[in-house]
Amino acid sequence: MTEVTMEKIVSLAKRRGFIYPGSEIYGGLSGFWDYGPLGLELKNNIKNLWWRMFVQERDDMYGVDAAIIMQKKAWEASGHVAGFSDPVVECKKCKRRFRADHVSIKYQKNELGKILAGKEKWVCENCGADNEKFEVRQFNMMFKTYVGPTEDESSTSYLRPETAGGIFVNFKNIIDSFHPKLPFGMAQIGKAFRNEIAPRDFVFRAREFEQMEIEYFVREKEWKESFEIWREQSLGFLKSIGVEKSSIHELEVSPEDRAHYSKRTIDFEFDFPFGRKELFGLAYRTDFDLSRHEASSGVELKYLEEGEGKFIPHVIEPSFGVERIILAVLQTAYTEDTLGKEARTYLKFNPAVAPVKAAVFPLLKNKPELVAKAREVYTSLKKNVPQIMWDDNGNIGKRYRRQDEIGTPVCITIDFQTLEDDTVTVRDRDTGKQERVSVSELEQQIKVN
Ligand code: ATP
Repeated sequence: MTEVTMEKIVSLAKRRGFIYPGSEIYGGLSGFWDYGPLGLELKNNIKNLWWRMFVQERDDMYGVDAAIIMQKKAWEASGHVAGFSDPVVECKKCKRRFRADHVSIKYQKNELGKILAGKEKWVCENCGADNEKFEVRQFNMMFKTYVGPTEDESSTSYLRPETAGGIFVNFKNIIDSFHPKLPFGMAQIGKAFRNEIAPRDFVFRAREFEQMEIEYFVREKEWKESFEIWREQSLGFLKSIGVEKSSIHELEVSPEDRAHYSKRTIDFEFDFPFGRKELFGLAYRTDFDLSRHEASSGVELKYLEEGEGKFIPHVIEPSFGVERIILAVLQTAYTEDTLGKEARTYLKFNPAVAPVKAAVFPLLKNKPELVAKAREVYTSLKKNVPQIMWDDNGNIGKRYRRQDEIGTPVCITIDFQTLEDDTVTVRDRDTGKQERVSVSELEQQIKVN
């Protein structure tokens, strides 16, 4: 078994062009990350597969792409202005700030489930100082900004801390344009911003990240059944990108720890190198959000059903963080082994998410006839399989290692035999086995999505 550490993942991700620290040449900016060419392809593959499974392959789902900045009133109605906060404590010695629920396990809470004070001593992980029981301050995690040329209370708004808000404010638009039958869902993929107190663990806790969220609207009596269906379908998505059900642990969130409006929440956790932590969540949010937006906007957000009259639908929310999924996919794929007596590191990506589906090489780069034939094969494959790479640098063994390290499932080599019988060598990433395949069958073999 390979021991997968964060150091190994972070270093490979940077070295091979997946993920870089944000603003790196200026010393970085904590909680912000930039995607390089391969990380971007990986991320796009994950988002596209999610969109295809949950939106395009269904008849009951409506996609939206709402603005990141919304009217301040929308965030007041959803409860974010008053309550989207984390409890913060400060070390008495080094003044470093931490999340209270990350330093102590016993708290006093108010009726909304907010931590007011810690009951236990805690040791500062930065300077080692012993801190006594502590007072907690609430820190609102929304990034504030101003809309227009004046900077005052009336022009204040926020970068969205979750994509769900943009879905609820478009509920009426979807009803009016499409007249969907209940149950139906709305889906959105997009950026979310949280001014996290302590961003950490690579992209796991970032200040700018992406979410893939669904609000699935149901009749109140159907919520339990729908919750179960979404639980299975969410796990089905993870499986389709190579993260097995067996590596995911369900944490039934207790009533004290749930958001006050939620009647049931499951945190789906994953064993990251830094501990078992939330990968994605599933929540039954009742009719809380639409009711609040209706009351605050004065616009009716009810659904009219023949025989039943008008009512506000209830909602099930599967919420996925793209970065945490990327991290789980990288960790699951990261493998060290020996192949042909040589140690290697490779990413055993499920081909569906692999940023490069195949690499094409001429056996020798100083033989024009091989290069020309390889270019021909490469160009023709690239038309229908765009995630394909050309490599003629160094010897074949080195090229294989480079492709292994970025998780390319197959390498295609054009050699002298190709010029005679139009077959190429296809080498498999995981086993290193090679077979001869006719050029005409290549596309079929490497096309996965
Ligand atoms: P945590 O308790 O770890 O802060 P959360 O319960 O606040 O997470 P949710 O509000 O449920 O998270 O957000 C839904 C999903 O968005 C999470 O399951 C996670 O995948 C992702 N997510 C939330 N915060 C971050 C973050 N700071 N960086 C990256 N992904 C995040």
